[in-house]
Amino acid sequence: MRVNMLKRVAVAFALALPGAAIATVVAAPAAHADGCYTWNRNLSQGTSGEDVRQLQIRVAGWAAYRSIVRVDGKYGPETAAAVKRFQSAYGLRVDGIAGPQTFGKIYELQDDDCTPKHFSYAELDNGCGGSGFSGGPLSASATREKALREMWKLEALRRGLGDKPLPVSSGFRSTACNRQVGGASDSQHLYGDAADLTPRTVSLCQVAREARYHGFSGIFGPGYPDHSNQVHVDSRRENNSDKSANSTFWSAPNCGVGN
Ligand code: ZN
Repeated sequence: MRVNMLKRVAVAFALALPGAAIATVVAAPAAHADGCYTWNRNLSQGTSGEDVRQLQIRVAGWAAYRSIVRVDGKYGPETAAAVKRFQSAYGLRVDGIAGPQTFGKIYELQDDDCTPKHFSYAELDNGCGGSGFSGGPLSASATREKALREMWKLEALRRGLGDKPLPVSSGFRSTACNRQVGGASDSQHLYGDAADLTPRTVSLCQVAREARYHGFSGIFGPGYPDHSNQVHVDSRRENNSDKSANSTFWSAPNCGVGN
């Protein structure tokens, strides 16, 4: 945000200058400085690198039904399809190529700390009062990274539901916290990429059903024990050595959601 503002000021200033300066300004919009991350080239199938990996994190919530987008830095058909769904969801030109329009939408959606607009690290780190993502089986930074990926999926889910708020009642839990709340010993909440959702403007079943289209491999909701007041979503498939659909576990029998 802050950086954008400076850029706008710079552009306005340059526009007031005569001649050659204007030509320079016309080309300028390609160079965007974002507080979190800036892409410097268009990305399409066949490209690879850290910029692709950063893009994959942002579009992971636009996976195919019952699938995931692998965050591997390689722009293949899976990434292209996710980019197309992202573009379609936000009314952009649907071509599967990440260019200025797609990046512009991502810049609009992301905060300077890289979290998506409607979710925050604080909200995901509230299991027993917030511990800076420490105290779990993974390092605090690895846990935080998983929480970030979870949030981008949640942002996509929120969009898929028609921009309905999705309050998170519990995200990451340290081992001690998980024990305290009586969580399963192998709970996905320990890894940072699980969230319990308590929507107020859409039904739990709407959330459980829609989550199937946003890269969540763990979904538990109404009809599953202890989930009559919340929908749990997680990314267990990414954490499993078996990354196939076998590691998907969905159960919300009252909503018609199952494996
Ligand atoms: Zn849960």
